[in-house]
Amino acid sequence: MAMNHRSHVILEKDLQDALTNDEFHLYYQPKVDLTYGELIGAEALIRWKHPERGIISPGEFIPLAEDTGWIISIGEWVLRSACLQLKEWEFSELDSITMSVNLSVRQLYQPDFLEIIRGIIEETRVNPEKLELEITESMMMDIDFAYTILRELKNMGFQVSIDDFGKGYSSLHYLKKLPIDKIKIDQSFIQHCTRDLNDATIVKTMIVMAHQLNFQVVAEGVEKEDHIVFLQRNLCDEAQGYLFSPPVAAYDFLTTVRNVNKV
Ligand code: C2E
Ligand code: CA
Ligand code: CA
Ligand code: CA
Repeated sequence: MAMNHRSHVILEKDLQDALTNDEFHLYYQPKVDLTYGELIGAEALIRWKHPERGIISPGEFIPLAEDTGWIISIGEWVLRSACLQLKEWEFSELDSITMSVNLSVRQLYQPDFLEIIRGIIEETRVNPEKLELEITESMMMDIDFAYTILRELKNMGFQVSIDDFGKGYSSLHYLKKLPIDKIKIDQSFIQHCTRDLNDATIVKTMIVMAHQLNFQVVAEGVEKEDHIVFLQRNLCDEAQGYLFSPPVAAYDFLTTVRNVNKV
């Protein structure tokens, strides 16, 4: 307990410096279109290169950043960095890809969030239609608030995806109300979809339901060839996972992507 508490405190103090010391980095994971087998986008995933601890994964510090409020500044840094990267790729053979960015609920609830994101778009001159904002179902707790903010984001031209779909305890109620473009089926369902009949049924049903509601469907955590066969047969639109590539640094992305054409 005491040990845990101490490392917790050290991390929190370090979070403050990490931004000014440029210790955060974005990695990018390819997103593949399952109909044409083409690269269509990248998801930005944050990494913390801590001077003593080495690479710390977001699972270890995002919850702390959310509790302490540091997620606001970190989230702004992520958005700006992802937009700058997207802009850079516009001048390469990656000129048509989209960029997905994860937003935490706390960020969306900050009063000036819309102003901040508008500012970043103006500053980086990125086309908002090429940005996909990923939010989780926990955002839907206050459906009226979610509606208002998502409507604004849609009006500004952004794409909106529901991340980790099916993982939480939320109801399906929000699906018919909210202006959403995509759902991302949580990787826990994909993992066993070719071996477990229940998972297979759930994934198939999610895809059919999403399509009937006019949403696109992304499968996360695709690790095996037979996942792809299953997903293509069931008309899933897009996929991400270690089968194609883990998240990589920007300077490795192009090389990685050239090897991706194996769908
Ligand atoms: P997520 O948004 O659901 O991202 C997918 C996670 O699954 C990533 O972990 C990714 O590396 C991992 N993954 C990708 N393909 C596979 C696969 O085939 N198999 C398995 N087992 N895992 C795979 P990562 O990068 O550690 O991120 C964990 C979570 O941290 C993310 O989950 C997201 O919720 C959060 N996160 C990451 N970056 C950010 C950020 O910039 N802002 C915010 N608010 N949250 C972030
Ligand atoms: Ca995500
Ligand atoms: Ca996810
Ligand atoms: Ca997640």
